[in-house]
Amino acid sequence: MEAIGATGWKLCDPKGDLVFVITQSSAINNPPCGSNDSTSGANPVMRIAASSKHVTLASPVLAAILSTNFAEGISLKANGFARIFLQDNPSAFAIIMDIVHARNNWVPLEVDLATLTNLALIVDKYQMHNAISYFANIWIDNLKVKNDDKSVFGDMEVTLRWIAIAWVFQNKEQFKKHTGIAKNMASGALLRAEKMNQLIYELPLPDNLIEDMCTFYQNSMAHLVDTYSYMISRLGHDGVIICPNSREDCDSMILGYLIRKGQAFGLFPEPAPPFGELRLGEILRKMKAVKPKKTCKSSHGGMNHGVSEMFEAAVGRVEKDMEGWELRHYLRA
Ligand SMILES: [Zn+2]
Repeated sequence: MEAIGATGWKLCDPKGDLVFVITQSSAINNPPCGSNDSTSGANPVMRIAASSKHVTLASPVLAAILSTNFAEGISLKANGFARIFLQDNPSAFAIIMDIVHARNNWVPLEVDLATLTNLALIVDKYQMHNAISYFANIWIDNLKVKNDDKSVFGDMEVTLRWIAIAWVFQNKEQFKKHTGIAKNMASGALLRAEKMNQLIYELPLPDNLIEDMCTFYQNSMAHLVDTYSYMISRLGHDGVIICPNSREDCDSMILGYLIRKGQAFGLFPEPAPPFGELRLGEILRKMKAVKPKKTCKSSHGGMNHGVSEMFEAAVGRVEKDMEGWELRHYLRA
């Protein structure tokens, strides 16, 4: 990217009739512009000389600000010049202004995840999707290749940033991939964490997404926990319940195994909603690994008189919906 001089000026159009004064990095979800002069006391970190024609074509939001309904538009009409005060990430805004002014040689082809998130925020805020989509696809492809080399699985923030990027730039492949990752790593504690609230507030995400995520997690966990608890409570009754050879030691062996594994996995004693730290993907993997062994010789129900079968059915019911969600269900009307 072009170096910004000590004076903080960037000249997208040296003869432009518009100056953006960026006063500070975005506290995200600010209103589109601060129309008051620099009375807020914040020092400008960047000024961008721009052309109102280019900006108006690229962004309906900035076009509205430059209409005669606003002070900026009135100034532009009366004096042939206007200033717009913004509180956005300066380097991301500068990249977007280079694109808008067709200064393509200055536009980076690779950006990191933080920058791409800031670019998505600005594009969403000023509705500049069409102007930016060509470069957005390049950025996503280049970042995607890099990220595939590392594990991003353990980091819900990375995943949410990707979902926001995929949603703003309408990349269905990445949206599906990262909503799938989010389902896997979801836990009751994570979905209710303070940090989660902050990210939901800061990032451009579809309105219903987190709600859908919570519902999916709670329903899936309830199904798995119920199945596990049902088997333990059944076997815990007096008398022989599942062994066709009426061997009490056979039932007891299976019950003991389920209790032991359940304690290790957080499934016994029966956890209550919202299920705390239990991650859905992990519980699915663990439940698949629960393989108690019968003690009798009966061939009925495989190695544990049908317990594994029952767990596999419960896991299968959840697993069939573990893929990510389709972007089209979340697009704005
Ligand atoms: Zn048996």
